[in-house]
Amino acid sequence: MTAPSEKAPKQPPYTKPDNFKPVYHASCYCGTIEWDLGGDALDAMYCHCETCQTLHGTPYQWAAVVPKDKVFFTKGADKIVFFNSSDEVYNDEGRMQGKNEYKLPCKLSCPYCHASFADEGRRMMLMLPPYIHFERNKDGKKIVPKAFQSNHHMFYGKRVADVADGLEKFLGRKDERPCDDEGKELKEKPDTPKDPMEHNEKE
Ligand SMILES: [Zn+2]
Ligand SMILES: [Zn+2]
Repeated sequence: MTAPSEKAPKQPPYTKPDNFKPVYHASCYCGTIEWDLGGDALDAMYCHCETCQTLHGTPYQWAAVVPKDKVFFTKGADKIVFFNSSDEVYNDEGRMQGKNEYKLPCKLSCPYCHASFADEGRRMMLMLPPYIHFERNKDGKKIVPKAFQSNHHMFYGKRVADVADGLEKFLGRKDERPCDDEGKELKEKPDTPKDPMEHNEKE
């Protein structure tokens, strides 16, 4: 059982970063924790590793990489629960250990709704886009900006279901062991014959 952290750390994203201008607003499921993002994500992916499956209770996790100086917790920063994760959290043996201690890298969650909404590293955060309040179209569908749309799947070798979405896929981390939608390892990265003319020449 974890208790809420006694006090928030004293640097961004727990204090306001310099020259911070909010672009996106986000909150956990119950609204106890709120934060702003000061810009677009640098990268976005789906992760099929078993830690993500277990921690989030989903077939795979959707995450976006955002620099810490583009994140500011505007509400509830002192309530955030830290799950201090060691390297073992990322292995495939199901080994996990942690306590509510602010020691990077760590996972951040709400003490009430238990939404696990971010991973914090030294310079970057993995923010989960489902918690960002994106604009909606007239049918109520979220409009996800390109920068937050996943551009690849990683740890696809651990998937519980195939995903035929045409995105790049890797059996390991990004750029490690590219594979197709069925998880068959490819000898080359799939984007090698980008130019159709060049592709024809090779044939
Ligand atoms: Zn909450
Ligand atoms: Zn993962």
